[in-house]
Amino acid sequence: MNIKLDILAIGAHPDDVELGCGGTLAKEIAEGKMVGILDLTQGELGTRGTPKIRAMEAEAAAGILGVMLRENLGLPDGFLENSKEYQLKIVEVIRKYQPDIVLCNAIDDRHPDHAKASKLASDACFLAGLRAIKTDVGYGDQEAWRPKNVYHYIQWKDIKPDFVVDISDYMDVKENAIKAFKSQFYDPNSQEPESPITSKNFFESVSYRAKDLGRLVGVSYAEGFNTERYVAVKKISDIF
Ligand SMILES: [Zn+2]
Repeated sequence: MNIKLDILAIGAHPDDVELGCGGTLAKEIAEGKMVGILDLTQGELGTRGTPKIRAMEAEAAAGILGVMLRENLGLPDGFLENSKEYQLKIVEVIRKYQPDIVLCNAIDDRHPDHAKASKLASDACFLAGLRAIKTDVGYGDQEAWRPKNVYHYIQWKDIKPDFVVDISDYMDVKENAIKAFKSQFYDPNSQEPESPITSKNFFESVSYRAKDLGRLVGVSYAEGFNTERYVAVKKISDIF
């Protein structure tokens, strides 16, 4: 039997999802939503760690967030492209789990894979809804499925969000999920080379950005997102 997800979070590298939208996912999971993560690559070009270590860390982080499932497409780190081959691989996953919402990488970022993964995931969401595109993962033709909404989380660059989500009660879960990637971030005892994401400042920036976004909307912590179309609310009073 197939699992139907409410939310599928897609990241170019294991840890992108935790950094970008870990608090939002933890909050939805606490409210009973079915959430899954799809990592596109194993992060094999990372300065620190190995694919094996990162896979174990990703599994630990998934457990901390409480997601239903976490899969890895094994696409090449550093060489993502918005190709038909890669689009179809993501189409298969979208049709398999039928998420209503897809969260994916930032529209622009320091790591070139992020912007590529952003467009790749977004295009795959559209294509997954076209009946004439046939996919089969071993159970006959998959049903066409288009997620209702695609949102882009923010990661390295300071992109102005279109909306923010209050994650005040889930900042600790987000931080713990990020810390599960021990090989990747600030560790004063590590013997491995330094990189922009291994600095203490980077680790702290995750918290201070969330705090600053929260400050701007009157809560303790928030995560920001960009949208491809206008955000609609039922009533103007729904906005706080
Ligand atoms: Zn990344």
